[in-house]
Amino acid sequence: MIPLPEFTLLRPTTLADAARLAGEPNARLIAGGTGLVPNLRLGLGAPQTLVSLEAVEELRRFKVLEESFRIGAGVTLERIISIEELPAALREAAKAVAAPGNRSVATLGGNLCLDTRCVYYNQSEQWRRANGYCLKYGGDVCHVAPQGKKCRAAYSGDLAPALLVLGAQVEISGVLKPLHSLYNDDGARHLALAPGDILSAVHLPATKGRSGYSKLRLRGSIDFPLAGVAMAVSLKDGVIEELRVALTGTNSRPFLIEGTDGLVDKEPGEATGAALAKLVQKQAGPMRTTLTAADYRRQGAAILARRLLARLTQGGDS
Ligand code: SF4
Repeated sequence: MIPLPEFTLLRPTTLADAARLAGEPNARLIAGGTGLVPNLRLGLGAPQTLVSLEAVEELRRFKVLEESFRIGAGVTLERIISIEELPAALREAAKAVAAPGNRSVATLGGNLCLDTRCVYYNQSEQWRRANGYCLKYGGDVCHVAPQGKKCRAAYSGDLAPALLVLGAQVEISGVLKPLHSLYNDDGARHLALAPGDILSAVHLPATKGRSGYSKLRLRGSIDFPLAGVAMAVSLKDGVIEELRVALTGTNSRPFLIEGTDGLVDKEPGEATGAALAKLVQKQAGPMRTTLTAADYRRQGAAILARRLLARLTQGGDS
């Protein structure tokens, strides 16, 4: 860790001012700072200006609309956990983030925009200088996949998969877009945001059925996901009517598992759980970006999905 670099901290009170200031060269947005500040202390970036969103009141609003919720991007994870009307997947994902102290300041928008992670990137400046910079920051080679020209760092936000299965949309600079369009499949440029773009809110439609989130991590009390699985499922007459599953922690973006439509009209028993696990295993793409073996994370994601289906449909463990 190194001391924080010198920067000017600006605290606009309106979204328009925040967007204007964030569009200036070498400016970065900061919300709770639980992701950004540790990275700055590792020497990962040296912005001249930090534009704090803390004083922008409208980002902290939560509204219950007729058929949906509008959650301001500045709503803290602690508050999300406390709002009982919100779907279980979102509240469980928020609860799985770090520790209570972090959750009291970390925000919805900050978690969705969390930087990707890699064992060659989340290291001190001295470590990276000694071992060689990589193409995500300061270098031109990927140590994980040296033949490729794309960073494979893993997206590790917990809330995004929950919001994907719940059909959320994000409000960016006043425009509503599906959540998946916020992400690129590139660990070095995983956010599809232009300078000055601000993610201001998440719109969440009312959903039927049950939802949940499960996470594999090294330290149960506080850690990023080695793999995280969110699920929304509804049953009708004992068979699956709708099923959506999304992953985090394995690929450079959070994503919905394809092919779950094929499990509709099936009973949610062992065979369906095994078929779902196969889909997850095939689509999860972990690389050597953690000290934990990639295949363990792939298998772990599949097991989480199978157990989560059992928990949500039969009251099994997850
Ligand atoms: Fe760097 Fe490659 Fe890791 Fe990306 S995946 S952070 S380019 S080593």
